[in-house]
Amino acid sequence: MTETLSASCVVVGGGPAGMMTAYLLARAGVDVVVLERHADFFRDFRGDTIHPSTMQVMLELGLLEEFLRVPHQVVTHAELEMAGERLRVADFTHVPTRCKFIAFMPQWDFLNFLAEKGRAFSSFHLLMEAEARALVRENGRVVGVRARRPSGETEIRAPLVIGADGRQSAMRDDAGVRARDIGAPMDVLWFRLSHREREHHAVLGRIEAGQALVMLDRQEYWQTALIIPKGTLDAVKALGLEAFRARIARLARRDDADDIRSWDDVKLLSVKVDRLERWHQPGLLFIGDAAHAMSPIGGVGINLAIQDGVAAANILADPLSRGGVTERDLARVRRRRWLPTCATQAIQVAIQNNVISPVLHGSQALRVPGVLRLAQRWPVLQRLPARLIGVGIRPEHVRTPARSPAPS
Ligand SMILES: Cc1cc2nc3c(=O)[nH]c(=O)nc-3n(C[C@H](O)[C@H](O)[C@H](O)COP(=O)(O)OP(=O)(O)OC[C@H]3O[C@@H](n4cnc5c(N)ncnc54)[C@H](O)[C@@H]3O)c2cc1C
Repeated sequence: MTETLSASCVVVGGGPAGMMTAYLLARAGVDVVVLERHADFFRDFRGDTIHPSTMQVMLELGLLEEFLRVPHQVVTHAELEMAGERLRVADFTHVPTRCKFIAFMPQWDFLNFLAEKGRAFSSFHLLMEAEARALVRENGRVVGVRARRPSGETEIRAPLVIGADGRQSAMRDDAGVRARDIGAPMDVLWFRLSHREREHHAVLGRIEAGQALVMLDRQEYWQTALIIPKGTLDAVKALGLEAFRARIARLARRDDADDIRSWDDVKLLSVKVDRLERWHQPGLLFIGDAAHAMSPIGGVGINLAIQDGVAAANILADPLSRGGVTERDLARVRRRRWLPTCATQAIQVAIQNNVISPVLHGSQALRVPGVLRLAQRWPVLQRLPARLIGVGIRPEHVRTPARSPAPS
């Protein structure tokens, strides 16, 4: 038998976009159900960056002080080693927000924090191990979602379904919408390297002809990314694990990379850059990666997802608490977030085409681009990339009221 629940809004996906939207809507008194297919937030690595703009949102919510008690690392600068030269590319110490740094925090700690704060509101309902399987439609309008839970089938009916189910969005498939593929020349292999003594750099990119390595300092280990030409994982594997380890050891300037015990320790991020032209249908809205998968350049996917959540809640909390949203309301969310999405993707694609592609496909010696040289001579120029990464274009601010009792 199918259990039936009802709410004012169903959010499919408990990632950064879904959890932020649900938290803000619940705080504004909107009855919201979040469906997350996993039993918890502990998953493979998928980015640990908390941006200054997210911490600004936390400040506006009165949660910053407590949030910063969650263990994290403070990153104030990003550096690159190119053609043997050490270059500083971004200086976060001047971004126009309270926190002038990027916090490195496991994504599950961030999501658990939001979940715990959300649960303090009676209007916040987080259903874990609840996999949305299909949209429910009536008279050409989405009126809910059917989900599979350990207890059986559940139908959750609501005037609005928000698809925040990530880049492989099943809700998007069910709605029959297709994202426009903008393309990416690379894939990323993620793995961990143990920390060695006397190594201390918070973020380090290392670019050589034909390859690029990014190392994120997680204190006990380096979260490391090898950027490879798109679709070449099989070719990398064909050379054998020993050759891969030797390649990584050389690039990471260490004696060995024996921390990589098998290919199971190496995770592929198949890089995608895409976006929906239309983010909504009657009763349905897509946000976050489900609306626009970002390139990993700059590590801004989480930031954009959260900003979408803030914008969606700002625009929709009022109509939802009055009992219904119109297509015009949904179109306003897309309009609000269109410029930051397209402009950020355009910058990423320009870097992909002008820096990453030539590096990956070139075998000649690399030369440091003029703009990076200028940024070494005039460090003030390092503030621009920091602002784009840390704050982004058209940052969102919390406008939703706190109608539900404040979390204790
Ligand atoms: C390996 C890797 C490294 C990354 N590194 C960074 C980084 O350093 N910085 C950065 O900013 N971004 C990074 N990203 C991108 C970042 O993870 C995403 O941009 C961001 O998480 C998007 O948030 P979201 O909430 O839109 O989607 P997601 O985080 O993908 O969340 C979607 C959620 O929906 C759930 N879900 C999916 N389908 C269903 C369903 N049918 N029913 C119920 N639940 C469902 C999923 O379990 C998931 O929890 C990385 C991504 C990967 C894969």
